[in-house]
Amino acid sequence: MRRPTVARRDRRQGSDRSLWQRLRGVDPHAEWRPPEDEEEDGADAGWRRPVAPATVAPPSGPQAPSDARTGAAPGGPATEDDWRWRPEEDPSSAAPSAPASSPEEPVDEPSALAVEVRGPGAGEAPDDSLLLGEELVRTYPGRVGVTAVRGASILVRSGDFIALMGPSGSGKSTLLGLLAGLDRPDAGRVLWRGRPMEALDQAALKRLRRRELGMVFQSFGLLPTLSALENVELPLRICGTPLDEARESAEGWLARLGLGHRLDNRTFELSAGQQQRVAVARALVIEPDVVLADEPIAEVDSENADLILDALAEVSRRGGAVVAATHNPAAVAYATSVVLLRDGRVEATGSPEDLVGRLSTD
Ligand code: ADP
Repeated sequence: MRRPTVARRDRRQGSDRSLWQRLRGVDPHAEWRPPEDEEEDGADAGWRRPVAPATVAPPSGPQAPSDARTGAAPGGPATEDDWRWRPEEDPSSAAPSAPASSPEEPVDEPSALAVEVRGPGAGEAPDDSLLLGEELVRTYPGRVGVTAVRGASILVRSGDFIALMGPSGSGKSTLLGLLAGLDRPDAGRVLWRGRPMEALDQAALKRLRRRELGMVFQSFGLLPTLSALENVELPLRICGTPLDEARESAEGWLARLGLGHRLDNRTFELSAGQQQRVAVARALVIEPDVVLADEPIAEVDSENADLILDALAEVSRRGGAVVAATHNPAAVAYATSVVLLRDGRVEATGSPEDLVGRLSTD
């Protein structure tokens, strides 16, 4: 029986270990066996074009300066939902929830620019399409319903680094949640590699959320009782990667993001900026095809912003794609295109050069 070399981790407190066990039954100390349904089932053969894996192991770069400490643990404890898409329901029963009966105002027709970027129908997405959101509408119900996204369309192609910009409240986070499949639109649809997300079978969904799509949450969604290293190696462990391999990879990403000296700190012992870098490392460690990042540089200084943006840009350089919601113009230097949201609509889309005059940081 193979025993991972985990002498240091074996000193982990019992509560951490039980937390690991609760997470999908993964025991980091147990002998690893491939998940039963991890084998390629061929059901979607022919539609998945693999994106080249990262060719260079994350270097152990110089330590980046630490960020201002807040002492806080933004976002509070993560839940398993942070790692999951919607429950794996029967797609045929997955009707989108009805819009609120009294939204604050009716949803208009999509803007002309939204139409311009709107993609074709299912199976007709461009060959290099990774994600396509078509005329998405999302209303938060409540006493006063809020329509956060109103007919927004966005096409994410191989090689894209899209800076999703717009004023606070313009719908950036909501749109990212829809694209990730974490939330469902009231109207419109999301296509992953040309297939409606709701039509993906269980194996494809599992592969999508475990291996192909990385999320950086605005509130980080880290597990506070785990160390930085354990948080980053967790997605690999869930995929069945042996512990020593997962650890090496996680250490490499953390070092690359300037956290080589903070591997063993629990996340509540880290500054907000350090936690943000852990969250980015966790999204990148699976070498995803697409990364959806919600304000990934909101908490860091300019030097660490560059570390993060360069690491994200590597995903698009190797044929994947990044959509980063941000207020920070620093991101535009790395972007291949900019999508401007306003009041839940795509107001403009174009190259950073074309749109630079319209960017605001409010
Ligand atoms: P952004 O990311 O651009 O700041 P959001 O997507 O967070 O915008 O929010 C868009 C709008 O939706 C805002 O008016 C916000 O108040 C509202 N909103 C966001 N989340 C919720 C929610 N869970 N319930 C009700 N309204 C929400």
